[in-house]
Amino acid sequence: MSAPKPIRSIVIVGGGTAGWMAAAALSRLVRTGVSVTLVESDAIATIGVGEATIPPIRNFNGLLGIDENDFLSKTQGTIKLGIDFIDWTREGHRYTHPFGEFGFDIEGVKFHHYWRKLYAEGKASWIEDYNLCATAQKLGRYTTPVADPASVLSRLTYAYQFDASLYAAYLRAYAEARGVVRTEGKVVDVLLRSEDGHVDAIALEGDRRITGELFIDCTGFRGLLIKGALKTGFESWKHWLQCDRAWAVPSANPGREITPYTRSTARRAGWQWRIPLQHRVGNGYVYCSDDISDDEAAATLMANLDGEPLRDPMLIRFEAGRRKLAWNRNVVALGLASGFVEPLESTSIHMIQTGVSKLMALLPDRDFSPVERDEYNRQTQIQMEQVRDFVILHYHANERTDGDLWRRVREMDIPETLQRKIDLFRNRGRFFRYDDELFADSSWIAVLLGQNVMPAGWDSLADAVDPALVRQRLDRIREVFRRAAEAMPRHEDWLARNCPAPTASVTRKTA
Ligand code: FAD
Repeated sequence: MSAPKPIRSIVIVGGGTAGWMAAAALSRLVRTGVSVTLVESDAIATIGVGEATIPPIRNFNGLLGIDENDFLSKTQGTIKLGIDFIDWTREGHRYTHPFGEFGFDIEGVKFHHYWRKLYAEGKASWIEDYNLCATAQKLGRYTTPVADPASVLSRLTYAYQFDASLYAAYLRAYAEARGVVRTEGKVVDVLLRSEDGHVDAIALEGDRRITGELFIDCTGFRGLLIKGALKTGFESWKHWLQCDRAWAVPSANPGREITPYTRSTARRAGWQWRIPLQHRVGNGYVYCSDDISDDEAAATLMANLDGEPLRDPMLIRFEAGRRKLAWNRNVVALGLASGFVEPLESTSIHMIQTGVSKLMALLPDRDFSPVERDEYNRQTQIQMEQVRDFVILHYHANERTDGDLWRRVREMDIPETLQRKIDLFRNRGRFFRYDDELFADSSWIAVLLGQNVMPAGWDSLADAVDPALVRQRLDRIREVFRRAAEAMPRHEDWLARNCPAPTASVTRKTA
């Protein structure tokens, strides 16, 4: 057996959210003698969007030992309890995908089976009333959760909405304080080793060169190393996820209220996001360019803002899909360089997080055994496909009558993995989670029911429990959640008390 040859130098190329998340996490290796360098160019802008997240981000920040209130304050952050979907199922309809569980299981049977039965009998209200996050979200309230499972507040699960550039800056300070070296410079060439095609060095403007053993490509959609130098293929999912452009614009918050959730409103050729931060609101219209012109899409976005726009909108082009190998030779792609699924369920930053965690768990040595690389790629593919399926569900299960996009996505063939899930659920509300699937049963149930995929029946074990007792339990859960939510402070008051952000000078800018 040959002696291990630990990696001694890691070069991260790109300093957007992906680059600095990787740098912050990998800074732990500096103590073991590994040099970690991040190269970025001030002359090349980051994507500048990416404001909503999902609950596991708290684990990432927690592992880094980040103080939550300090982080929220410095990133103009707010709390996200879920997503409000307006007009997605059909025009005039509204539902919530809340974080956190629905109700409580009874005698080992999932709560939603009891709910389905009572709902069919007209003895239960809509399922959201049995979820604490959804209840608090509707009232615009939030309080710090309690870990003790005996407290109802242990049912509160949350994520963040923040300014992505401030998050990158926050992580930069963290990483640099722990020995990560930042190098300013524009990459003009990537040099490959002739013997094995690995990246040997990157060349920077001004005749500088940075060598490394492991390279992390965080250069965004450009994918300078993974795509440009290694020519790694891309698997397009455009036939399922047809939106390929977005206009993004920040606006002023028109009032004092800061809603603790992201809002997604379906429109004729796509959908519009609204993400409230402390100092402003992030907005964007994600659309399919076959169905609407750029000008009309921009006009639609600007006509549907709650407050005054703070600058001109920015156009972003993209294609849904994944890099066929997220790890190729000695390059691991993270963030947009590794693929993209539109931000409907705020999953991209999470995919960076899981990418970094997997890399830490499978850190190669200088021999770059294919075993670790293949496992990384296998897991990445599964995770991206699971996210893809979840997002497709929102489109496919629609009853909208406007716009050709909605008819096409309703009628299209969907991945077999998703079809199986829908069929199982539609039959008797059954749901299974595979391979550490990111979204829990409660998320799938929220969106399936929200998109009107109603199970025809329920688990027959739900019939074994006294119906009067079940009804009593459901009424009680709803009541306890309502009272708990009503007792919480308003979200904006909680922010002001715990993590007020510096007041920003939000002046109107035109490009
Ligand atoms: P970028 O931010 O593009 O950073 C690329 C970096 O590479 C920059 O630092 C740049 O300077 C550097 N670079 C590039 N070329 C060179 C070069 N030649 N030399 C030196 N440096 C170079 N995700 C979420 O989780 N939630 C959301 O709500 C969300 N909303 C989104 C909305 C839209 C419309 C889009 C397109 C994406 C959204 N995302 C969201 C995804 C999110 O924006 C990205 O996952 C995240 O910002 C990571 O981007 P990145 O770091 O990979 O790339």
